[in-house]
Amino acid sequence: MDSLPATRIEIDLDALRHNFRLAGEYAAGRDLLAVVKADAYGHGAVRAAQTLAGEGAELFGVAHLGEAAPLRQAGIDRPILLFCGVRPGEEDQVLKLRLTPMLFDLGLAERLDGLAANAGIRQPVHLKIDTGMGRVGFRPEELPEVLERLRQLSHLELEGVVSHLALADERDNPFSEEQYACFRACLRQVREAGFSPRWVHLSNSAALYSRDFPECNLSRPGISLYGGLPGPGFADLDLRPVMHVRSSIAQLKQVPAGTGVSYGHRFTTGRPTRLAAVPVGYADGYSRRFSNCGEVLIRGCRMPVVGTVCMNWTLVDVTDLPEVAVGDRVTFLGRDGDALLRGSDLAAKIGTIDYELYCSLGSHNERVYE
Ligand code: PLP
Repeated sequence: MDSLPATRIEIDLDALRHNFRLAGEYAAGRDLLAVVKADAYGHGAVRAAQTLAGEGAELFGVAHLGEAAPLRQAGIDRPILLFCGVRPGEEDQVLKLRLTPMLFDLGLAERLDGLAANAGIRQPVHLKIDTGMGRVGFRPEELPEVLERLRQLSHLELEGVVSHLALADERDNPFSEEQYACFRACLRQVREAGFSPRWVHLSNSAALYSRDFPECNLSRPGISLYGGLPGPGFADLDLRPVMHVRSSIAQLKQVPAGTGVSYGHRFTTGRPTRLAAVPVGYADGYSRRFSNCGEVLIRGCRMPVVGTVCMNWTLVDVTDLPEVAVGDRVTFLGRDGDALLRGSDLAAKIGTIDYELYCSLGSHNERVYE
């Protein structure tokens, strides 16, 4: 017999559409590449991409080839960028699935050029430049040599030029402008070398909502599409949470003051207490770091997580909510009536960011699309 999942994730596709439209307003005529890597930050890449394609997303971004294949199988026919490049042995699939790597490796450029020549096509790539992120991409000083080599690879098409910002989530940090200045200088070199990239892009969600980079004609929002705030200074944006994580109360019990709760007795009741046991734990992606500091929503009220979060159980102090009953809905993330547990607020309690929370909860639980 099939059993019902103890935890389920409701994905609000209307909220996703709303967030995409808001991004479109801020993009002010520029195109949008919807970032759907990591299974759309735990929201389910196929459904997210189908929904966003319907809203006019021009391109999609994933990390690896393995994330792109299901999108093609599901009928997504727009360009798909591979943010993390291509591993040796995957090149044939790149051509077959018509994927577009971000290019930061001349060896890959040469291998793709050879395959494209054999196939009689031009393989699109987006040149990735490290303008200050300090992660992947060619350094600006490498550009002359890289561009010279690319000019010889006549079956590659330099369709885009791209960089990534390190500090865009800090609204007032001038480093983003420094990166943009560096990016523009690199772009000049690209154009002087005879290339005319169709796409020029730098902005993630934070930059899309806080900066204007006139030379760019494409933005790459991720987190904001899912209703996450791109940083602490963005709380005034009308972003709607897309992921709602629900379970229900499995047992209620009354215990006296002085009762130790859960593994290690890291919480002891200070008063007669009503405890609700909810069958959600770190095996479901709800971090053990929420022990004694998490909050959940029950009947639209914020209730504290007490004691250690277990593999499959979380305990909640519901003493102040006498009407609760076994079977009541428990929301671990998202909205319950008028109350909202925002990913960024929750994540801050355990020293992480909503990106990680969404990925963790989203990859462990069954999703229902609404
Ligand atoms: N562009 C690149 C290269 C990224 O790695 C990411 C996310 O990590 C994004 C865009 C989207 O960023 P955000 O989710 O902050 O909008």
